[in-house]
Amino acid sequence: MKEKIAQRHKAAAPEICVVCGKEFVPGSGSPKTCSKECAKILRKKYNQDYEKAHRNKRNARRRELYKQKKAREESKMKGYNNSWDQLVELMNDDIREAVHAELAPCTNEEFLERYLELDPDFQATLDQFAPDLET
Ligand SMILES: [Zn+2]
Repeated sequence: MKEKIAQRHKAAAPEICVVCGKEFVPGSGSPKTCSKECAKILRKKYNQDYEKAHRNKRNARRRELYKQKKAREESKMKGYNNSWDQLVELMNDDIREAVHAELAPCTNEEFLERYLELDPDFQATLDQFAPDLET
């Protein structure tokens, strides 16, 4: 008896398929689509929407991390610039001159980047001049 009422209720209220727009009477399948084919299309669309939302989130997170990293680097560079004369004193003369010959005129940042490539151990010295930052 209950089932019959439910059936009549359904029959009295046809749905519009969200995929193809056709009117249909909801049965045991999807309540939103008229057929298996349309259900498949809808599922695919959901997956795409999910993937898209997910991707946007991922990109936003990546941008945020990049911004934080950039800010940390800028803050570090400020610390280096403040102690630049001291830093230069601590550099290996040969490497320093080699970098200077190669890059000058350049910014301190460019100089440091290249210098560290040639003298990676200098990073430890550099760290002593960096302001305290959470990593
Ligand atoms: Zn349909």
